[in-house]
Amino acid sequence: MEAESPNSPTKVSLLRRLSNFLLEVNPEPNTIPLQSRVSIIALYVVALLSAVAIPYNLQIDWRAGSAIAVVGELLFSGFVLGGVVSFWVTRRMQLARIFYFLAVAMICLQLIIDAGGQWGLGALYIVSGYSVIFFVLGLRGGVLIPLILLLGTLLRMPFGNFHSLSIFNSPDISSRYLTILAVATFLGIAAVCYQHVLLRGLAKVAYVDPVTGLANRARIEEHLAAKVAQAKTHRLGLGLLALKLRKFSQVTSTQGSGRADRILQKVGRRLQQFQPTGNLVGRYSGTLFVLSSPDNHPVQLEQLAIYLHSLVTGQPYDLDNDLDDQPPSGNLVSLSCEVAVSRFPQDGETEQALFANLITTLYHSQGIPGQVLFFNPAQREADHQRFRLGEELRDAIQLREFSLVYHAKLNLATGRGLGAEVLLRWHSARSGTIGPDVFIPLAEQTGQIRKITDFVIAQAFREIATLNPSLIHAINLSPLDLADRNLLPYIDQQLAETGIEAHQIEFEITEGVLMGHDPQVEEALEHLRRRGFRLAIDDFGTGYSSLSSLSSLKVNNLKIDQSFIRPLEDTKLAGNTTKHRIVETIITMGHSLGLEVTAEGVETQAQADYLKRIGCTYAQGWLYSKPVPLASYQNWLAENLG
Ligand code: C2E
Ligand code: CA
Ligand code: CA
Repeated sequence: MEAESPNSPTKVSLLRRLSNFLLEVNPEPNTIPLQSRVSIIALYVVALLSAVAIPYNLQIDWRAGSAIAVVGELLFSGFVLGGVVSFWVTRRMQLARIFYFLAVAMICLQLIIDAGGQWGLGALYIVSGYSVIFFVLGLRGGVLIPLILLLGTLLRMPFGNFHSLSIFNSPDISSRYLTILAVATFLGIAAVCYQHVLLRGLAKVAYVDPVTGLANRARIEEHLAAKVAQAKTHRLGLGLLALKLRKFSQVTSTQGSGRADRILQKVGRRLQQFQPTGNLVGRYSGTLFVLSSPDNHPVQLEQLAIYLHSLVTGQPYDLDNDLDDQPPSGNLVSLSCEVAVSRFPQDGETEQALFANLITTLYHSQGIPGQVLFFNPAQREADHQRFRLGEELRDAIQLREFSLVYHAKLNLATGRGLGAEVLLRWHSARSGTIGPDVFIPLAEQTGQIRKITDFVIAQAFREIATLNPSLIHAINLSPLDLADRNLLPYIDQQLAETGIEAHQIEFEITEGVLMGHDPQVEEALEHLRRRGFRLAIDDFGTGYSSLSSLSSLKVNNLKIDQSFIRPLEDTKLAGNTTKHRIVETIITMGHSLGLEVTAEGVETQAQADYLKRIGCTYAQGWLYSKPVPLASYQNWLAENLG
């Protein structure tokens, strides 16, 4: 695998990088980034005003001898600047925090030594200093430092009166200042504590998934946005992993939602074992977990993905014990999952693109257990194309882009035409001719199949009404059509409008429909049958339908799938290959159930001869005719109705 530099350049404007840098926030669990951002702004304000205060102080107090104050301020500014520079150079917050700590300590020292020379700054400190201290030193510092400050000022009272350093040296003003400072300290501490409690509560509601206790979707999105901004600023890489549990609905339906939640909790706990600093483990939605990693090297990400997979699927989940390390009870559930990986900046330059590509990757999984899925741009392109095609499909009926073709069927014994299967064609003005094997599944996925089937039925009935009524014409139905209660009334209405009889129509359904054992679908088929329509099982042999479902549904026709007919090339081998034996078995079985059997995809005379010899009833395929428009089909009929 090609080793890639994690620092592939991305285009970010200098201004953007600067603002990212200045407002750099390291999101941590249970913090609201905005809060950190406010604190950082406050720190800059303090630093800036302090710098402004230096020349001001020089003018007012220099002659009064406040050299200490000036030195203190210079130190303060130096520390803040040191923090900024160290952060810029090391890209780490640790060293910067030490500088910021020294800067905050300096403010406090200043205020203790000489509140007067700094009074402008003192007020500022009271307004903004708490959040800075809170941010840099955490809750304890936010409470302790103001208390130390207050104590220092108190101590200064008896020992005070540094020579002419400040107007506050008059006892009168000092005691007033002390009172104000005491009140401010109290208010400040109360505010810091309240803020802390409030933020923690808010963060929990806003950012924590109640089931697993992991970061929730909002938190993941914010974290990603911050991480991508950070990676852009410092030209770093970023890896994003998605872990999707498979078939979890089975767990929910067999174990109940309470137990399913407990399993999810355990999954969360196992995933939390992987949480190097700065990384995130979150539950994005139902069974989708998202993790971030500072690494974007494919080999390392693959190893990580394999590790996560083994964490989640390696051991079964014990439903009776809350903790995994207790001796197992008999009640165990195993899970399976897939892990997808996308990388910044290779797979997307924004958090949205990165995430969308991660989901695309998961969506294209082939369900191979333990497989690590990497993002592949061709998949995204294919998805876009499918999406565009789905949109075009929406308008195809109004734009009259659909037409029907007829694929003739014939009686093998007599060689006489029997009718045809109606097939749909789409000539899209924008995308050219698109095959039904592409657009029918698309229509099923996008919920448009019903509208299309209605069109096929209406159009086919009208055209069939102009043909010989003794012929049989087949129309394909999708399983989704059968699940819709409006289908039968619609068919009845179309019958009445066109005047054709039910026995002229055969509906083709695929074998999969029977395997689903959906009562609504079975009821719909039963209705069609009782109404007098013929039923055919399409692509027979590709699924696993049981004989009993064939006989209980009383279908009329079995259509052997083309994949069995195509290899029947060499008649000398007749009866010798597996395919030959399968075809012969289907025909024997079909006849014993009283069914007609149609061979699909007959292309050569040899196949036709063989099928005729083994007793197949009907055939359909390019040997006789390709699927053709109505007019050509009528010509074919004229020649083949004998
Ligand atoms: P199907 O129902 O199995 O249709 C048979 C397909 O095999 C047709 O492709 C037909 O052109 C092709 N075929 C038939 N004889 C031969 C042959 O001798 N050799 C070869 N190579 N191919 C042959 P088509 O028209 O592309 O249809 C593909 C599938 O699309 C159909 O498979 C059917 O499942 C679906 N379909 C087509 N029209 C409709 C429709 O109106 N409604 C629904 N729900 N599905 C449709
Ligand atoms: Ca068919
Ligand atoms: Ca077929």
